[in-house]
Amino acid sequence: MAEIKLINVTKRFDEVEAVKNLNLHIKDGEFMTLLGPSGCGKTTTLRMIAGLEVPTEGKIYIGENLVADAESYRFVPPKDRDIAMVFQDYALYPHMTVYQNLAFPLELKKLPKNEIDKRVKEVAEMLGISHLLNRKPRELSGGQRQRVALGRAIVRRPKAFLMDEPLSNLDAKLRVRMRAELKKLQKQLGITTVYVTHDQVEAMTMGDRIAVLRNGVLQQVGTPEEVYREPANMFVAGFIGSPPMNFIEASLLEDAEGNLWLDAGDLRITLPADISEALRELGYAGKEVIFGIRPEDIYDISLTKGDYPGVKAKVDVVEPLGSELIVHLNVGNIKFVAKFHKDSKVKEGEEIEVGFDLKQAHFFDKH
Ligand code: ADP
Ligand code: MG
Repeated sequence: MAEIKLINVTKRFDEVEAVKNLNLHIKDGEFMTLLGPSGCGKTTTLRMIAGLEVPTEGKIYIGENLVADAESYRFVPPKDRDIAMVFQDYALYPHMTVYQNLAFPLELKKLPKNEIDKRVKEVAEMLGISHLLNRKPRELSGGQRQRVALGRAIVRRPKAFLMDEPLSNLDAKLRVRMRAELKKLQKQLGITTVYVTHDQVEAMTMGDRIAVLRNGVLQQVGTPEEVYREPANMFVAGFIGSPPMNFIEASLLEDAEGNLWLDAGDLRITLPADISEALRELGYAGKEVIFGIRPEDIYDISLTKGDYPGVKAKVDVVEPLGSELIVHLNVGNIKFVAKFHKDSKVKEGEEIEVGFDLKQAHFFDKH
């Protein structure tokens, strides 16, 4: 087991700066997800930890071990880093049985045969693949192959697991199950894990903490709760949550009593005193801002007893998802998306009253 530290790590491929001055400290036993859109540098970061890429600048520690240091040209090759990687394409040996696939990393380590046998059977048991040990990869389903790939990582008892979108080739139902299993297994084993994904639901449900990347730059590191409740900027706010947060350009104006209200043209909302006060302290009074509100923080007033300021809105499109409704609303020419409880009876074309839970709203600087 080990902590992993990246200190001022930069990776350049010719003109492309894939990772920019990254500082990240992954704690011993932690499940850290690296989250961000395609091309933001997740795989490159993972490959640098694995020793498959050499950092252009900076240092990487695995435990006490300085495994890469651009300044001193120190570089420990992958096989000496004692980590295991799991990829989305599994990379099993097609000509070997499941047993041989699992045993292979231990044979490389020259472990005695009976020890290998014991560990392979233990891991197969843990992953529910004991009955598949004599099969070849082509005789397995996608989910079974993924389990074998995991087994091959676990059997080595490495210091850390590095996983690059390992569930992305599974169908939706299996992905949900494997997500939970993988998380449980990681906790059981207590092995430090860095898990790359572009799927915010995966990141939110699996990670102890999430590191959000954009264009090679770290945006925020925090627990799922923290990145959801207190996003560091508009990018994080818009990337976490589904459907994404609504962003509405507005001004914060002051009324005669000194209360602030939100003026977005056709949408006007009076802000409660405590929120007014907090925004004033932040220096937002009289300023132009981006008002951010999540779809789940907008209510169908006819259903809720909460005391939310109501606004009349026209229902444009309703998307019934069974467990909830995604409702596209217009207030004049301002459009936003709300997520209503499944009991809501709103119909396309009708005018309704919606309430905003302003305690959950975010106000961003307008650049
Ligand atoms: P992600 O995994 O988040 O999708 P990557 O780490 O794969 O992102 O890529 C980050 C950036 O680095 C991209 O712009 C990608 O095109 C570039 N990149 C990655 N690997 C190489 C490489 N071997 N040569 C040149 N550019 C690369
Ligand atoms: Mg990638």
